[in-house]
Amino acid sequence: MPRRSPVASRTSVFSESVIREMTRLAFQHGAINLAQGFPDFPAPDFVKRAAVEAIEADVNQYAITWGDPRLRAAIAAKSRRHYGLELDPEREVTVTCGATEAMMAAMLAFVEPGDEVVVFEPFYENYVPDAAMSGAVLRFVTLRGPDFAFDPDELRAAFGPRTKAIIVNSPNNPSGKVFDRAELRQIAALCQEFDCLCFTDEIYEHILFDGRAHVPMATLPGMEERTVAIGGLSKTFSVTGWRIGYVLAPPPLSEAVRKVHDFLTVGAPAPLQRAAAVAIERGDGYYPELRAMYEGKRDRLLVALREAGFACHKPAGAYYVMAAFDGLGFDGDDTAFALHLIERAGVAPVPGSSFYRDAEAGARFVRFTFSKSDATLSEAARRLAAL
Ligand code: GLN
Repeated sequence: MPRRSPVASRTSVFSESVIREMTRLAFQHGAINLAQGFPDFPAPDFVKRAAVEAIEADVNQYAITWGDPRLRAAIAAKSRRHYGLELDPEREVTVTCGATEAMMAAMLAFVEPGDEVVVFEPFYENYVPDAAMSGAVLRFVTLRGPDFAFDPDELRAAFGPRTKAIIVNSPNNPSGKVFDRAELRQIAALCQEFDCLCFTDEIYEHILFDGRAHVPMATLPGMEERTVAIGGLSKTFSVTGWRIGYVLAPPPLSEAVRKVHDFLTVGAPAPLQRAAAVAIERGDGYYPELRAMYEGKRDRLLVALREAGFACHKPAGAYYVMAAFDGLGFDGDDTAFALHLIERAGVAPVPGSSFYRDAEAGARFVRFTFSKSDATLSEAARRLAAL
């Protein structure tokens, strides 16, 4: 080993993904993995067939760096149909390797070291490494109470002259919160007052419950010009391993994202981009099925968790439940509880602290995903009941 530390300090402020570590532990102990949010059931046939056909048709070389034209056209057409957004697929849509690359590319494209980025907590764990690698200083605003609400004064106090952007993830991972129009309006007003960008993580746009509708930030007055919207196929079409995501932003912002994306990854897998185009072109008939399926899974997991003694709020969207375990009489923190659950019950959750800056704030919670087959959820329920 070299005598000086060979490791760059930017890697020292974050650790390996806790979510993926829980997956490893689940595997090691033969536990049911309700930790990592990915489906254990098949992707839709029409989507898989399109991928096979693309490979056989030899769509096997680099796509255009910023995305297969047919996929960009499909994304733009869908944004118009669903949300009334007018996007130019040539200049405002960039395809990336998953929403993960999309968010990292956005941070690298817009954030100067020392710039501040506002983020709600509990947050998706990626935003911390995204900030560390781009040099952003995160300013946290805590969502509180059973419905994960923010205090408007606390939100305003997080903005200042160094604020470059705010990250809004709705439907939210891990809380299941869906920001309503009034909340989005308050955020939008601050973005305009402080002249900053809004990075939206809309990966769960089609997983919404109880008749709710998704409201993209870019549809609010004055926000299209300052919104960098991130989406992807992983959750909607149950293809998390395909790594197909995208960034939607006005031309000058898209240009900067495209430059970063080009040198980070060149492009997402070409045949899977073609299949993604087919998925989105034909998706409108499928989205209602997807919602209904996940609504059923949500209700099934909620019943199991409540019967096992967890206190949890009903998620409005996405496919996770934050569950408080203080009713279970366990003496220890969230990480100890997660390990206990893996080893003793054979069910793996994610410790709540991985979604909070201050570990203490998440110490009463673990997160479970319900993106699993009904058979997996029933077996998990059986194991939890035996706790
Ligand atoms: N988005 C998924 C989750 O939150 C998977 C994340 C990951 O693999 N780190 O569980």
